[in-house]
Amino acid sequence: MSPGTGCTSLIPISDLVRRLRERGAERVALQFPAGLARWAPGIATALRDAGFEVIVSGDPCYGACDLALDTLAHADVLVHFGHAPVEERPDVIYEPVRIDFDVTVLSRALPLLESRRVGLVTTVQHVHLVDAMAAYLGEHEIEAVAVPGDGRTPLRGQVLGCNFAAARATGADEILFVGTGVFHPTGVQLATRARVVALDPLTGEARSVDASRLVRRRAAVMAKAADATSFGIIVSTKSGQQRMDIARRLVALSDRAFLVAMREVSPAGMLDLGFACYVNTACPRLAYDDQIRFPVPVLAPPEFEILCGVRAWDDYAIDEYLSP
Ligand code: SF4
Repeated sequence: MSPGTGCTSLIPISDLVRRLRERGAERVALQFPAGLARWAPGIATALRDAGFEVIVSGDPCYGACDLALDTLAHADVLVHFGHAPVEERPDVIYEPVRIDFDVTVLSRALPLLESRRVGLVTTVQHVHLVDAMAAYLGEHEIEAVAVPGDGRTPLRGQVLGCNFAAARATGADEILFVGTGVFHPTGVQLATRARVVALDPLTGEARSVDASRLVRRRAAVMAKAADATSFGIIVSTKSGQQRMDIARRLVALSDRAFLVAMREVSPAGMLDLGFACYVNTACPRLAYDDQIRFPVPVLAPPEFEILCGVRAWDDYAIDEYLSP
């Protein structure tokens, strides 16, 4: 499978054309996350050849929380690639991309599992394999519990970097995360306090997760924020990242705190505004992943609550964007 003009095997294009026609679309907006953007010319060509006017969003996109509504304003329907819905809209078609693997790779995780009953979670690219993974674990006398999360993670076993409801809902003392990267399994552990084993199904690497390193790093950021003379409480203007209710509650905790609306949470924007510290209510991952890029401490909401004395250290929590 390779991208480029005329290449459309990222998705079944005839199925997409059918769904667009069912909606009566004539003008179609396309939105891709960075890793899939190279498919834009091929899919745009195929849709144009099928009779649609096509406009491609060229803005950065990290999740279904960031729909290209500005681009949609010039079209009848937006097709958002790579992610499952965090909100359903009649004028948006979501095209999550499936990544397959041989579920026998779970054999790599078996020696690390200590329980006969484990929660099973993964990311949207692999969620179609949940039943096959559960069956494989069952063959090895391990009961796998995979359940939906909340309205933001409605698929069985699906977690997001901002939502671990499906892990919590398993009620399991041990959880197997199948997916890439370290952030999701760390978040699963902080959100559930369970033992967590992470398996990368593409490399076959399995490991026990230790979230304490992240907490130590965050404690150092909080220490730097303790003497801040002003706090900007960031509220995102992106469609699925707005948490004004939380931001207002945080502002009420300190007379040094002010609401700051941002579309892109950028180091330059922070410097321009000049607050000594920011609290991020936009994509929760920004505070954890991007602190190194930021010129001043950027706290997660639960960390600001600790700083303001309304939450105990023992109650340290990962920031989650949960469905109301
Ligand atoms: Fe992903 Fe962040 Fe959006 Fe959640 S808010 S879906 S973690 S980009």
